Amino acid sequence: MTYPFSAVVGMDDMRLALLLNAVSPAVGGVLVRGEKGTAKSTTVRALAAVLPPVAVVPGCRFACDPAAPDPACPDGPHEVTADAPVRPARLVELPVGASEDRVVGSLDLERALTEGVKAFEPGLLAAAHRGVLYVDEVNLLHDHVVDLLLDAAAMGTAYVEREGVSVRHAARFLLVGTMNPEEGELRPQLLDRFGLTVEVAAPRDPAERAEVVRRRFASDADPAGFAATWSAEETALAERIAEARARLPRVVLSDAALRQVTAVCAAFDVDGLRADLVTARAAIAHAAWSGRDEVTEDDVRVAARLALPHRRRRNPFDAPGLDEETLDEALSDSRPDDDGPDGDGPDGDGPDGDGPGGGGAPPPGPSADDGGNGSPTGEGGTEASPPATAPRGEGGGRADASPAPDRAAAAPSEPFRARRLKVPGIGAGAAGRRSRARSERGRVVGSTKPGGSVTTLHLVDTVLAAAPHQRARGRTGPGLRLAREDLRQATLEGREGNLVLFVVDASGSMGSRARMGAVKGAVLSLLLDAYQRRDKVGLVTFRGTAAEVALPPTWSVEAAAARLTELPTGGRTPLAAGLVAAHDVLRVERIRDPQRRPLLVVVTDGRATGTRGGAALTEAHAAAALLAATGTAAVVVDCESGPVRLGLARTLGTALGGQTLRLEELAADALAATVRSARAA
Ligand SMILES: [Zn+2]
Repeated sequence: MTYPFSAVVGMDDMRLALLLNAVSPAVGGVLVRGEKGTAKSTTVRALAAVLPPVAVVPGCRFACDPAAPDPACPDGPHEVTADAPVRPARLVELPVGASEDRVVGSLDLERALTEGVKAFEPGLLAAAHRGVLYVDEVNLLHDHVVDLLLDAAAMGTAYVEREGVSVRHAARFLLVGTMNPEEGELRPQLLDRFGLTVEVAAPRDPAERAEVVRRRFASDADPAGFAATWSAEETALAERIAEARARLPRVVLSDAALRQVTAVCAAFDVDGLRADLVTARAAIAHAAWSGRDEVTEDDVRVAARLALPHRRRRNPFDAPGLDEETLDEALSDSRPDDDGPDGDGPDGDGPDGDGPGGGGAPPPGPSADDGGNGSPTGEGGTEASPPATAPRGEGGGRADASPAPDRAAAAPSEPFRARRLKVPGIGAGAAGRRSRARSERGRVVGSTKPGGSVTTLHLVDTVLAAAPHQRARGRTGPGLRLAREDLRQATLEGREGNLVLFVVDASGSMGSRARMGAVKGAVLSLLLDAYQRRDKVGLVTFRGTAAEVALPPTWSVEAAAARLTELPTGGRTPLAAGLVAAHDVLRVERIRDPQRRPLLVVVTDGRATGTRGGAALTEAHAAAALLAATGTAAVVVDCESGPVRLGLARTLGTALGGQTLRLEELAADALAATVRSARAA
């Protein structure tokens, strides 16, 4: 028994975004961002119950519409029929670990090659056709699977191809993704392909919170009874959706309204025309939802708030949201019947005054010549920070970090493009862009006799395996006689993401504030690099008397950057404690995520001081040996500076069984620069 959609408290933006897509699937789906425990999933799951039911061809696994069956349906061809059974719209959940075969469906290559039969097992895309496809934790989904999903969503078709055997079927669905940004961001290229995005948070108002709890109790105690008390609202909502769908084709987007759409998109400086299209479609859907036949300024405003925030983000550390002032300005500047450029009230959602004036007769003149207002973007906007610099730190738990306890945190220097540090050997972890790994995609490096079904055929090896048997199998003509045991599965090699655990020395021995700023800048650069390579990251720091796990392994590079920025420095150097803390973190992670290989990055000058005098360095090297014994790949970033150098970092690197790099060697172009200067000398 799902929770009734009408009974969800708050979450207005999210519910509206879902409803607009239910009215007009062309809007392109919804991405919902918010912390855990905000009933995101409950709300999505509740949606299916209020969607209009669908008629399907009996026995078709691809949910063909009997009024207009898919001519390419693998279960077809079907005859056009007027009356066919109706079933509720479906909500299909796509689990984060789903394989490509599970998502798009699988072709039985063996049967295709040995019997000439095209046997296709439909995947989740087929199941979701004409319904909702829901991906919780979409940010954790394999990149390649996200690409498949978004391609299918954009084309309305799923396509599977294996070794020249292909299947195509219709797959039109409302795509909904939810995610917790604390666990890592979605790649910006993918963000842009969701039609709308909304941010959700638990309600602040105590009365509203109480209502959430009250309803949850009631529904848990008696799900059926609770659903019954909401059934009238649910029915009314379902009817309103059906009415809006019917109205949709009649809704007019006047030239004046279209100009407002484009003016708003220009004001927010979005790339390409996708934003304009989505905003226009969402505005039309909102007009239909509101029972209007013409798009008004209010529709454009609502659409822009949902369609634009994620299209103007420039890097993972930018704040979400849309600046209301810029939105108001763009709307009023492009308002057709406005003489005075400004002087209008704040917002007030001006219900009249705009649209109805003349029932659609658009003033021929390009009124407020939109060309001029493309510029005022940044200047008024609160945050315009163009380069990929310091993340704002306030998000991270410690509110009173500004007047630091013993020494104010040194600001990180400008980040640079970091060289790729990698784990040696070949792993089998989740896809990423760091270390070599066996994978589902990538280049062919060999073949094996398959244990299960063949997904990627190694053609040459298959032919070689079949060749010796041709005479015995009675081959006469030109064709090769293949048997199941000849088939060879290609072994592919790609790249995996890793867990990059930073162990950062924040003690006084690391030198001046400027030096610490450079160290932070370097780690920040490595964090940006980790974001692009789809790594998990963690941060251990040590100073004074102890080490601290400043951030347990997470997907949120943003959180790591915030912790790093506010990291205070000074005091003694408990290097051993830092390494032991790292050892413990890695031990837990190895249990939690055994496939993900760790890369330890120790940022230090290699010195160790402790409360018990000279034993500190010995202890540190013992801790390093402990880590080396687990086979953990390690890189020591040597931060020693000044005229007299002890070279302790290199000794530590050797104890860890890893590589040692100087701070200056971390930049991707550092090697080339060294070679160049060596040549010049
Ligand atoms: Zn069909």
